Amino acid sequence: MGLGKMKVSYIGIGSNLGNRRENIKRVIEILKKDKKVKLLKKSKIYETDPIGPPQRKFLNGVFKIKTEYSPFELLQKMKEIEALLGRKKTLRWGPRTIDLDILFYDKLILRTKDLTIPHPEIPKRIFVLKPLSEISPFLKHPLLKKTVRRLLKEYETN
Ligand code: AMP
Repeated sequence: MGLGKMKVSYIGIGSNLGNRRENIKRVIEILKKDKKVKLLKKSKIYETDPIGPPQRKFLNGVFKIKTEYSPFELLQKMKEIEALLGRKKTLRWGPRTIDLDILFYDKLILRTKDLTIPHPEIPKRIFVLKPLSEISPFLKHPLLKKTVRRLLKEYETN
């Protein structure tokens, strides 16, 4: 792996289709094989109630990584992994089994059509705040200027 240029990023992962735990394991394996990614921390995997229409519960977690990928390259990578795991063996395109979100990328603040960083839903999602504050409680949200721990507390008292 090259020196320097590595940025810290946080990835949110969710799965509610198929073998959920296996899906998450496969993502970890793919990331571990990627020479441009170093997996630094993994949160516990939490089972959470789905938002929206009735469906199976989700397994959610957060990874802290270091990466040489630019934000858009990383997004592309996440989409590739989603497509790879969502594809049925019959080659038919099945429902997505994995959802990967870029939560933070260094201290970057970015708002484009295809990519918003920090992920705009962070303060509203307990299934992100909980695992995030487990692995990096004092990480500061660059836009809201609050720690993850503080955001979790505010979520819990609202
Ligand atoms: P969804 O299917 O709801 O997870 O939305 C996926 C789309 O959200 C992707 O095609 C991305 O272009 C877009 N997107 C915007 N910001 C982010 C982000 N921080 N992480 C992942 N996807 C993002």
